[in-house]
Amino acid sequence: MGDAFNDDECDYLFKAVLIGDSGVGKSNLLSRFSRNEFRLDSKPTIGVEFAYRNIRVGDKLIKAQIWDTAGQERFRAITSSYYRGALGAMLVYDLTRRATFDNLMKWLEELRRFCNSDMVVVLVGNKSDLVQKREVEEEEGRSLAEKEGLCFMETSALENLNVEEAFLEMVTKIYDITSHKSL
Ligand code: GDP
Repeated sequence: MGDAFNDDECDYLFKAVLIGDSGVGKSNLLSRFSRNEFRLDSKPTIGVEFAYRNIRVGDKLIKAQIWDTAGQERFRAITSSYYRGALGAMLVYDLTRRATFDNLMKWLEELRRFCNSDMVVVLVGNKSDLVQKREVEEEEGRSLAEKEGLCFMETSALENLNVEEAFLEMVTKIYDITSHKSL
């Protein structure tokens, strides 16, 4: 997992997007996954950012290109080009802020408007380390995911809990779908 290899050696290049309300932890999840870093300050820049991570699934080498909104969701300024070509999405809410959970349907509607129906969507309840501040129970996340046909996981970018697992689940599922299509 995560080995360095040349682009030409890659069997697949996948694009996936991070979405969800501002402040839920999207950019920290991405920096954990791509560089194993956590930032306590909020990001200063506005504009699309993305990071790469190389992953081995079985004997295949996959380059995952993960896009972050980098604050654009604050201005409802995410355009169709953000979603274009994406095979997967990580839809993130903050389990200490119910409003971010209540907004999930809005995000799902946007996803369904811009993306193919076979897109892999992983629902992520982030900030599981803030036990005392929890406003959304794990069961609520899980049952929404079941109802909408999504994968589900609770994570902590701060404590690096389940972050790797959530991204790997997304990439592996994309690989399963893509490799079946090309058979
Ligand atoms: P984004 O706007 O969705 O990209 O969110 P950020 O990654 O910028 O995070 C927003 C705030 O939440 C920052 O102050 C982070 O330090 C904090 N944060 C992100 N993930 C976690 C987490 O897992 N646990 C805790 N306690 N704080 C987090």
